[in-house]
Amino acid sequence: MPELPEVETTRRGIAPHVVGKKITGVIIRDRRLRRPIPKQLGGKVTGQTLRKLARRAKYLIFYFDNGALILHLGMSGRLWIVQDGAAPTAHDHFDLVLHNRTIVRLRDPRRFGLVLWQSGDPLAHALLAHIGPEPLSADFDGAALHAATRNRSAAIKHVLMDSHAVAGLGNIYANEALFRAGTSPRTAARRLSREHCSVLAAKIRETLELAIGAGGSSLRDYVASDGMAGNYQSQFLVYDRAGEPCTRCGTKIRGIRQGQRSTFYCPKCQKS
Ligand SMILES: [Zn+2]
Repeated sequence: MPELPEVETTRRGIAPHVVGKKITGVIIRDRRLRRPIPKQLGGKVTGQTLRKLARRAKYLIFYFDNGALILHLGMSGRLWIVQDGAAPTAHDHFDLVLHNRTIVRLRDPRRFGLVLWQSGDPLAHALLAHIGPEPLSADFDGAALHAATRNRSAAIKHVLMDSHAVAGLGNIYANEALFRAGTSPRTAARRLSREHCSVLAAKIRETLELAIGAGGSSLRDYVASDGMAGNYQSQFLVYDRAGEPCTRCGTKIRGIRQGQRSTFYCPKCQKS
């Protein structure tokens, strides 16, 4: 599943090819994503110039003068640049066609992705309006995390993933950040001290920045027809490593279920 670093890497890879370009049309091959692609989308964007490509949580936002196209990669979506004439495959459901014969193409085999239109401010869209602070922004720090967790008796890992305390932190990077911070994923969120929240907030940022940095080396893949690189599994410290030795102390990494999600942690390094 594309997580925040993959979405940000996608944004950085695609932006130079699309910002400032005029849209000449859209091609919708299958509108049945998590929500249907709106039928009026072509009429909204055709003839418009893309002003900015931004990211909020795991949503990509294509800004135009008359509104914004909001895109989410869902469980299996990939977005990249192809040149006009590149034949679509069975799962290439949506194309945004630019005036220089360049196409932004969405491939989404499982069709949990989203392509939506919002007139006016896209951040006011119901899907985006209640998301917490961006983890890479100045709005997110120890004080913000501490304040957001005071009334939360749920486990800190669960709280990190529900998007109110921090935006867009998925399962992989929640596991990784908790390990880097030495935080037990099972600790009740409200029990974390102010100092502990500062360490955890810094490690969340560090974990995401490292992953985005690793993605930077694969930016050229975004203009290739075979799509983008996946996530950065070779660098995971705990995720999907149950039974393997902790990179820090050698203790076996433990794998448990929290809610419906897999949690991986070192019982020795992550005690409080
Ligand atoms: Zn350890």
